[in-house]
Amino acid sequence: MFAISFDSDNRTLYWYFTEIMAGSTTAEDEGTAFLYLDAAQQLIGAQIALDYDTTEHNLTGALEHPVVSFDSDTRILAIRLFDETPAETIELVEPAVMDFDDSEQLQGFELQLPAIEQLDVQLERIVPFLVTFDSPAEDPDDVERTPETQMFAPNTEEVAFRSGFVALVGKPNVGKSTLLNAFLGRKITIVSPKPHTTRIPVRGILTTPAAQLIFVDTPGIHDPRNKLGSFMVDQAQRAIPDADVVCFIVDISAPPSRLDERIATITRRSRAPRILVLNKTDQPSRDGQPHLEAYRELGPWDMEVAISALQEEGLDILVDEIVRHLPIGTRLYPSDQITDQSMRDHAAELIREQVLHLTEQEIPHSVAVEVDEWEERERVLYMRMTINVERESQKAIVIGAKGAMLKRIGSAARKQIEEAIERPVYLDLWVKARTNWRDDPTSLHWLGYTKRKT
Ligand code: GDP
Ligand code: MG
Repeated sequence: MFAISFDSDNRTLYWYFTEIMAGSTTAEDEGTAFLYLDAAQQLIGAQIALDYDTTEHNLTGALEHPVVSFDSDTRILAIRLFDETPAETIELVEPAVMDFDDSEQLQGFELQLPAIEQLDVQLERIVPFLVTFDSPAEDPDDVERTPETQMFAPNTEEVAFRSGFVALVGKPNVGKSTLLNAFLGRKITIVSPKPHTTRIPVRGILTTPAAQLIFVDTPGIHDPRNKLGSFMVDQAQRAIPDADVVCFIVDISAPPSRLDERIATITRRSRAPRILVLNKTDQPSRDGQPHLEAYRELGPWDMEVAISALQEEGLDILVDEIVRHLPIGTRLYPSDQITDQSMRDHAAELIREQVLHLTEQEIPHSVAVEVDEWEERERVLYMRMTINVERESQKAIVIGAKGAMLKRIGSAARKQIEEAIERPVYLDLWVKARTNWRDDPTSLHWLGYTKRKT
């Protein structure tokens, strides 16, 4: 076994190559220690400069671990937890203390980390290697050495932790949003993407004890009839190659359309595992015909899963299938992260949903909701939002007779926002008609649809 434990009180990291047996350490030695950091300054390994007394013979057990290597010329013992070149190697002030057992085998070593802020952030990537160990009850001295690892919620399961990006692709109305909401539940953990973790917009994060699934945003792949449309196609096409797993969502109650074929074609270009997700199984086929074969033929697919996003059926199986296809890796986001920015986006999205829902498709997808103001007031969170539509006629529909529709939209959306935020909200809702905003690049930018260089 290879494992690490962390004592946050003493800022000490213990790296073990063998099972820890109390009292079996018979000798200690010191060596200059270095940390390997990635570009985001996160710990990804360590190295120790060994003296000439320590030979390969002393490292037999340690070298059985694939992450451990030894260069007999430079006498560097390296532990690379990930298959990547460190962006930086920093020397520690304190030497590593190495433990040897009675047959002179290196059992492990101890590193003293410098006092820095956000140490827990720097140690995020090693979380899958972290363990706690039971200190022997009869040895009170050892109790003090019991690592304090609560801050990491270490994964002590036998199975390796997996994490990665999951693209949910499919034409409009097949149930992507419903599925995502069902996955994430009411407790949304939608975050704004952090530059060092991804250049793909993240829609939501599902963290389970065994895995972290990061759903990346792939807006419906539309026909690129206007700039917004082509932006979306762009985004989706870009998100697919970067995803670790691609889920192609279809509506099994209807036959595949030309748009399904197009999206399937784009999906097939991905080298990631592709899962065919047959949604709306709760609904009888609209033309009485079975469509499974037709969807299968748009593949090949690595896997198919039948679900009902609406009834929340088959979702556990789908999560298991996705996780099975994810690479082994650490959590990329803290499991409870909710940023203010994400709440704004989410609130705007909830309003947009109500507009589309309550106007019953009279208002096309061109509607965009903008956050004008977001402010903590005495007992409420005040938010002023503008619903942007394309034409005066649409504006009239959204407002409704004597403002009745806008009121319905506002009160339904407010309820949902309050549920998500878990606090009272004052929603100040406005409607604007912006002619041709969809083709105006400055307006696209202003709405947050920024095209980024890849
Ligand atoms: P998206 O455009 O792909 O994000 O699709 P939505 O999630 O917005 O869903 C479109 C419509 O399909 C909504 O009216 C959903 O309630 C409905 N829907 C989604 N999933 C299911 C399902 O499993 N069964 C049924 N019967 N309807 C569903
Ligand atoms: Mg949707």
